[in-house]
Amino acid sequence: MQRPSKMRTFKIPSFLKCVSCGRKYDLKEIRYTCNCGGLLDLARDLKSVDGKGLLKLWEDRWGMKSGIESSGVWRYRELILDVPDSKIITRQEGNTRIYPAGKAGEYAGIKNFLLKHEGENPTGSFKDRGMTCGITAANIYGAKCVACASTGNTSASMASYAAAAGFKSVIFIPSGKIAYGKLAQALAYGGLTLQIDGNFDDAMTLVQEICEKLDIYLLNSINPFRIEGQKAICFETLQQLDWKVPDWFVIPGGNLGNNSALSKALMELHELGIIRKIPRIAVIQASGANPLYKMWKNNRPFEPVKNPETIATAIKIGNPVSWEKSLRGIKWSNGIVEEVTEQEIMDAKAMVDAAGIGAEPASCCSVAGAKKLVEAGIISPNDSVVGILTGNVLKDPDAVINYHTDNLRDKHIKGNFANSPKSIKATLEAVKAVL
Ligand SMILES: *Cc1c(COP(=O)(O)O)cnc(C)c1O
Ligand SMILES: [Zn+2]
Repeated sequence: MQRPSKMRTFKIPSFLKCVSCGRKYDLKEIRYTCNCGGLLDLARDLKSVDGKGLLKLWEDRWGMKSGIESSGVWRYRELILDVPDSKIITRQEGNTRIYPAGKAGEYAGIKNFLLKHEGENPTGSFKDRGMTCGITAANIYGAKCVACASTGNTSASMASYAAAAGFKSVIFIPSGKIAYGKLAQALAYGGLTLQIDGNFDDAMTLVQEICEKLDIYLLNSINPFRIEGQKAICFETLQQLDWKVPDWFVIPGGNLGNNSALSKALMELHELGIIRKIPRIAVIQASGANPLYKMWKNNRPFEPVKNPETIATAIKIGNPVSWEKSLRGIKWSNGIVEEVTEQEIMDAKAMVDAAGIGAEPASCCSVAGAKKLVEAGIISPNDSVVGILTGNVLKDPDAVINYHTDNLRDKHIKGNFANSPKSIKATLEAVKAVL
């Protein structure tokens, strides 16, 4: 039988739609927000789409050795962004592994705990999934210069993809330390890196103004195309699980784009009948940067956190742009928001690392949060749980070394599971003594 031409079969009408007032905009127009100030979704008319056919197509693409659809994002291109091959800028992102949590699972008290390692992307974080889509949109719109505010990983990713596309990239990073690995990447990939005297939220405000005034394409997760690319984490995870939906997804929350993408992906799969069960989403924030948690817990209107502070620098964000989208998805999935302390983050990280998996601090909120929710009786030890590890262990070597040498006491973090280096004499006896 002849295979139908895919792009024709699955031509899905799409447009931008405001999440607050519902107003629609044509995709031809460059827009990040609605006239009412609300965030925009890339919305699709899925009514006439054959979900089964789409699933078959994705299964056929699994394991492709080369080409655009060998990317773990563009494999699902029908629900990512409908553009011609020639416009797509990809680094074959995605295709990340999913690991049994091992020691980290025992630590969390969950038997069936899997960790989807998004730190295995080309620049070491899940941001690459959104970035391939965002930079492709920039390409479609004819942009030659892109910008973002970043706690580190977005800038590393953007600089890399901009380099691949031949675009100029401008990066706004907050004052104080950003993780060394991330800063190194931004510089290495050739991004114009501007450290401002202010925190991430100040950088975010500034970059939005600059993009509007100077005609630069904005690649923060306020950009609806970034969210579309990040949906592929969900598609790929479920495909790896043969479309058996877990009971829970546990995911860290900073600017709250990633969990918004996760729920949007699930909503679309559900609407298409590809999945019937809806997993519950648990978003985990650091207790020093917890505006969504506060809102959730106290049932109060959203209010930014003034001076966010956490060792998990990737989620050190007080005024997350995507909180509305995030909340929509958490409610839809009957999900929950939890917070974890600095000590809980770093101890969970020690377990993820000691399992031989390894991830940066923010990622380990997934494990710390899962443990907390098991202890609270919300996640059952028998539930199937997928935790998202968002970034690579090498992103933040300082956090690792300082924990294992017990040098985080100024931050009130103890090296509870420290594996400190030991200095010994260069003799057989000395080695024997420490073995
Ligand atoms: C960006 C990032 C996060 C937070 O994701 P949001 O979409 O901003 O909530 C978490 N962990 C890592 C490693 C990140 O780079
Ligand atoms: Zn609106």
